[in-house]
Parts: sequence; C-alpha cells; structure tokens
Amino acid sequence: MTALALDVGGTKLAAATVADDATPLEPQSVPVPATGVWETCAALLREVAGTEPVTAVGIAAAGPVDTARGTVSPINITEWASGFPLADAVRSLFPGARVRLAMDGAAAALGEQRFGAGRGVADLLGVVVGTGIGGGLVLGGRIVTGRTGNAGHIGHMVSAYGTAVCACGGVGCIETVASGPAAVRWARLHGWEGSDGTALAADAQAGSGVAAAALERAGTALDQVIASAVALTDVSHVVVGGGFAQSGTHLWRPLLASTTRHARLGFLREVRVVPAELGPLGTLAGASLLAAGHD
Ligand SMILES: [Zn+2]
Repeated sequence: MTALALDVGGTKLAAATVADDATPLEPQSVPVPATGVWETCAALLREVAGTEPVTAVGIAAAGPVDTARGTVSPINITEWASGFPLADAVRSLFPGARVRLAMDGAAAALGEQRFGAGRGVADLLGVVVGTGIGGGLVLGGRIVTGRTGNAGHIGHMVSAYGTAVCACGGVGCIETVASGPAAVRWARLHGWEGSDGTALAADAQAGSGVAAAALERAGTALDQVIASAVALTDVSHVVVGGGFAQSGTHLWRPLLASTTRHARLGFLREVRVVPAELGPLGTLAGASLLAAGHD
C-alpha cells in the first residue's frame, strides 16, 4: 500500500511516493505538455505507484484552484482554463483512495513549516517569488485554505508601486511589480539589455546600477506587501522562496528591513523574514503531507 504526492505546476508535473515520515520519495517530473495534460499526469502517477495499491493522493496545483469543487485552472495550462476536475480524475484513477487538493503556495508553506525554514513555527506566511508570485498560510500549525482554497495568495495584493494590468484582470498586483518578469521589464525600460531574472541578478552582482535598482525596487515592493499581510495575519515568520528569490542581496536587503520600515507595531517588529530551504521540492513535500493526512 502506498500514498502518492502530485505537484501540478505551471511548467512541470512532479510526483512521488510518500515515505513513512511524510516526505516525498524519489520524485519524478516531466514538463507540462501543450495538450493531454491529464493523460500525462495519470501516466506519471501510475509510474511512481508501480504495482502497489494506492490509499491516498495529495495534490498541489498552481492556482487558481477550487478545493470545494476539486477543480483546478492553472493560468499556464490553457487546456484546463475552464476548470479541470482534477480531484475526481485522480479518484477514478485510484478508486477508494483518499484524495486531498491544495493550492501550490499553500502546500509549499506547509512543506516549509514541517520540513524547512519554518520548522517548529506555528504561524507562518509562505511567499513564492518566480515567474509569478504565490503564497500560502499556516496558522496554529494548520494549513489555512479559505472558502475555495486560495487563502494566502499574496500575488494579487495591490502594490503601491503597481500600475500594470495583471494576468488576473486587476491593476497593480504585486505580481506585476516584483515577479522575475516584472523586474526584468522595469530594468529594460530603464536601459538594461538582458532578458531574464538570472541575468538581472548576475548583472546587479557585477555592478550594474539599473539591475541593482530593479531588484531593490522589487524587494521594497514585496517588503511593503509582506508587512501588510503580516499585519493582517499576525504570523511570526515569513518564508520566501521561488526562483527569483535567489537573486541575492539587492532583492533581500529591503526584505530583511521590512519590520523596521513599514511595520511599526510591536507585534510586527518581532517577525522574521527568512529564505525558504526546500527549493522546488517544497510544494511536493506539502502534497506528501496532505497525502499522509498531516495538514
Ligand atoms: Zn493580479
């Protein structure tokens, strides 16, 4: 008998069996195909399950999700734009298995809280900064889902720096200011000629003033929104991960200053903002915890 974890990201699908300590074992991943996404998920799940009967499946999916209905419609998976019934599809693949679905940011927050930078912390906000910005909340040691499973999705909080239209249809979301592509766009408007977040971080490190300013602007904008979210949620720790969060000092200096600049209330001054420890595996770790019923 075995439990499985599945991570449906914007660009890759990952799955693993779940060990006795609720960690993912021997994860496998494939790129998200242009079509046949469910068939690819099903093949991946069957492959990691082998011949073992499957008793539980924990699923983390890129948002938006609707955990009440068991549907997902990740922005980068056009085939599923109108909402794919992922929980039911997994149930029909493994009849009798207990299936749990969460937004990827919530799963990543749970993974960091049990196995990563938030070990032993009851109340934390997870923030994932990459091509988009996601997040999730753990309060009182438990994952917070909200009505539809999207609680903690910090990417669509409005930033004071925001003017652009967001993929969600709103204007000025932090995702349009501080994601990797948003920082690159700002830098290019100001004369930088590189093309992606990795190059931006490298150029900032090498002394490019525009690249450094782009990262500092992104970090400062994130810092404001994080301070607001902390004031709302009263968490003690904020764990920041995702590819663009690896951009070094210029991004992190304003983030580490958050509680001194924007958060003047006593309870906010004690908040710790720390880098995530689990990397891209954090989300699959959260899905494993869901499968093991440790959420
Ligand atoms: Zn938005």
